[in-house]
Amino acid sequence: LRPAAELAPRFPLTANASPAAADAHAQVMDHLTFGVAFTDHMARASWTPAEGWHAHRVGAFAPLTLSPAAAVLHYGQEIFEGLKAYRHDDGSVWTFRPGFNAARLNASARRLALPELPEEDFVASLAALVGADERWVPEAAGSSLYLRPFMIATEPFLGVRSAHAIEYLVIASPVGPYFVHGFQPVAIWVAQDYHRVGRGGMGAAKTGGNYAASLLPQQEAYAKGFEQVCFLDAATGTHLEELGGMNVFVIDADGTVRTPSLTGTILEGGTRASILQLLRDGGRTVREETIALTELLEQIRSGEVVEAFACGTAAVITPIGRLAGEDFDVTVADGAPGQVTTELYTTLTDIQYGRREDPHDWMYRL
Ligand code: PMP
Repeated sequence: LRPAAELAPRFPLTANASPAAADAHAQVMDHLTFGVAFTDHMARASWTPAEGWHAHRVGAFAPLTLSPAAAVLHYGQEIFEGLKAYRHDDGSVWTFRPGFNAARLNASARRLALPELPEEDFVASLAALVGADERWVPEAAGSSLYLRPFMIATEPFLGVRSAHAIEYLVIASPVGPYFVHGFQPVAIWVAQDYHRVGRGGMGAAKTGGNYAASLLPQQEAYAKGFEQVCFLDAATGTHLEELGGMNVFVIDADGTVRTPSLTGTILEGGTRASILQLLRDGGRTVREETIALTELLEQIRSGEVVEAFACGTAAVITPIGRLAGEDFDVTVADGAPGQVTTELYTTLTDIQYGRREDPHDWMYRL
């Protein structure tokens, strides 16, 4: 990838934020939570079949003007991404594996019959937005600027076909450390009645419909006192796939690390891919394979499985302390964060915050 300084000018700054939006800065930065406050700019580009991608720009963060007939509002033709900008101790701002997210956006685009965006334009949009909103990248330990690129079908047309007018946008939200009270294990509810996706569906794409399918099971799990839902495969209902917004890993007593393989019905996380790489670098045995629920419960009860965690950009790595469903409720080891889980969390966040060598050149300076 070429340096950000060469790419960012592809998205020229066309409008500045309103003074009112700029005024919110101090208040927001003192009370960072996840995804509630936004910076004062957004990046944007438009697409039509005749023009291709055009009108790349950065403007003020503002409500969109959209026809009530816009295809996205009716048929859900949309995709998105999520990554973070991290401030290092010397004040510089970096992001993590933007090429991975660019490739995943395009994989999602293909599944949703949306136009692909060139990788350099994707990275340029992040660089230009963070350039305009640099002061919104927090400094507090564990905080970051969450970047949300997305693509929507804006054509006003009620026929069911791929739309002929598309908008790509990037918005940004300053977020605090996810683990406000340290590294807290979560309790997971295993959904046996609901599935997120099916074979041949959109499970490997990052698209709103998959998240819509997860809301009701998530709400029911919350009501029972669980933080997250783990989904099983729809075809057999026997093996683990992923959580609503995170991939899942288990660690055996002999040190082997396992995660569900990429079958086309789960989203490939950048965090998942990076963890697999770090473990292989460390000489550990890692296996991407089918993880059957019944066997896993047995292995947790017998002590053969000693750790479990979920991972994704937002929460990085979340230890799983408890796994329950209609007819089971097990605690993983003693329910506290395990050693391998904790080490992985430290290694990954040290790389992201520039506190440790970056052997795979994952960090990209914005
Ligand atoms: N699975 C799902 C369904 C997700 O939404 C996410 C978050 N993007 C992940 C896994 C983890 O992906 P990543 O590590 O790239 O954030």
